[in-house]
Amino acid sequence: MAAISLTGLTKVYPGDVTALDALDLEIRDGEFFALLGPSGCGKTTLLRTIAGLESATGGTVAIGEREVTALPPGRRDVAMVFQDYALFPHMTVRDNIGYPLKIRKTPAARRSAKAAEVAAELGLADYLARRPGQLSGGQQQRVALARAMACHPSVFLFDEPLSNLDARLRLEARTFLKRLQRELGVTTVFVTHDQAEALALADRIAVLEAGRIRQLGTPTEIYRRPANTFVASFIGSTPMNLLPGTVRGAWIRVGDALLPGPIGTDAAAALPDGAEVVYGIRPEYLRYTAQHAADVPGALPGRVTVIENLGSTQLLTLDPVAGGPPLQVTVPEDLPVTVGEPGYALPRPERVLIYRDGNLL
Ligand code: ATP
Repeated sequence: MAAISLTGLTKVYPGDVTALDALDLEIRDGEFFALLGPSGCGKTTLLRTIAGLESATGGTVAIGEREVTALPPGRRDVAMVFQDYALFPHMTVRDNIGYPLKIRKTPAARRSAKAAEVAAELGLADYLARRPGQLSGGQQQRVALARAMACHPSVFLFDEPLSNLDARLRLEARTFLKRLQRELGVTTVFVTHDQAEALALADRIAVLEAGRIRQLGTPTEIYRRPANTFVASFIGSTPMNLLPGTVRGAWIRVGDALLPGPIGTDAAAALPDGAEVVYGIRPEYLRYTAQHAADVPGALPGRVTVIENLGSTQLLTLDPVAGGPPLQVTVPEDLPVTVGEPGYALPRPERVLIYRDGNLL
């Protein structure tokens, strides 16, 4: 086990593409750490640079006490699991799992015994003689994990390890991975573009944009208090409503409506009247009512334009009467709503976030 320390890590690809931009990051010993961000933000490059599969243009990588920036992958004591598992199709499961030990010149008998032991831990004992093509996607993924585990690395690096599985298997594999990581306690860095996966699995998450970290925190911190509008719009199964508004005392004017300002932050209250801000509220922290506006102070009037059935809830899209961007509201599955009806969205003040110049106040 080992911590990972990245200092000023920079990667510039030919053609002047800056994939990592002087990145500083400390990943703790034993941590399950997620790299999250949109396509092209540098997640895979970061993982490959830790693994030594890409060389850094600048900065350093340390694993545990050792600086490994100049070391080849084989000498970094890391194991990487790729999105496509990268199994050898012509080898049996036993030989695939034992392959890293073969490279380390472990005698065949020990290799085979070790492969059988790891396979048993991952529920693969019955498949040792099969080839990858004779296994399901979930089983192939476990073989890839088993191969990574076979030589007890200090660090696991996973590049979208669940993306080739169907939705149900993916949930199962997610729980399995989380339990396995807890049991082994190996420092694990995994890349995903699926924020639900990152929120569910990680101890901490780094959200990347254009080779830089936009926020680093626990899933709860990142979900509850996104540090900037980029993270706010990226995290959450339905994105946060981000409504342009202006300060009016303790209220924020959005269109013609006055909405309650946030509770518990003095920074927003200290803004001068007329200051331009962005009013952030998640769909699940808005209450919907079809009552008349006069009965509903602090609400945004609108008209329902779309109703999406999400199973246990419905997601309403409301076009504000006073113009401005549409907003989304989560309501219970059994609330009677019809497209076209007028309605009001009421923010829960304790969940309101105010952004100024893109950053959370
Ligand atoms: P995705 O989620 O789509 O896999 P990512 O966040 O993993 O994306 P990277 O693959 O790390 O992003 O790519 C970061 C940037 O570097 C992108 O702009 C990409 O086009 C560029 N890039 C990646 N590999 C190379 C390469 N070998 N040569 C030139 N540019 C590259």
